[in-house]
Amino acid sequence: MAGVDLTFACDCNTVRGALIGVSPHNGNRVDCYCHDCRAAEVYAGQPDPAPDPVGIFQYKPDKVRIDAGQDQLAVFSFSDKGVLRWQARCCGAPLFNTLRSPKIAFVGIRTDRVSDATALGPVVSRAFVRKANGKRGHDGLRHALFNFASNAITARLTGRWKQTPFFDAATGEPVSKVHVVSAAERAALVLPDVQPPQA
Ligand SMILES: [Zn+2]
Ligand SMILES: [Zn+2]
Repeated sequence: MAGVDLTFACDCNTVRGALIGVSPHNGNRVDCYCHDCRAAEVYAGQPDPAPDPVGIFQYKPDKVRIDAGQDQLAVFSFSDKGVLRWQARCCGAPLFNTLRSPKIAFVGIRTDRVSDATALGPVVSRAFVRKANGKRGHDGLRHALFNFASNAITARLTGRWKQTPFFDAATGEPVSKVHVVSAAERAALVLPDVQPPQA
């Protein structure tokens, strides 16, 4: 199914580009209610999104085109093995999440950064919502995982994983030095206890 190209930009429009060939069938729209996604917003100088989720579209790194401001991509993580959280250095805007290795081809782009979020389709999964037993769990995750895994495996088999704006494919290193937020810094981010919605 032919998709559409959707532009994205940071707040000050220095970092901008496009997601190529997007359709609701080749990515996953996920709402995440986890503490780390909230903390990442606050760390990046944004308001705490709670009780609303952080909206993410899980997509293919080789279909992310950065047209301007590549040198303004900064990246931090809450641990030395954790998810990489990419933001625009210019204005702080959170933009993407990736894993640590380019070989697992995956990118999550912030839903609210794209020009027309309706083109991403409906939310297919809600992560870290409250289950009937009171614990945190996920809705619709099986669909999202299947899509993610088939995208990543195809990228690996075809060598497409090497096409990514986030890593140097030769070294596997991120294009910007990762700032690992210390446990003390992370703990200092004030996050009021807000219950996620019930699944
Ligand atoms: Zn999260
Ligand atoms: Zn900016």
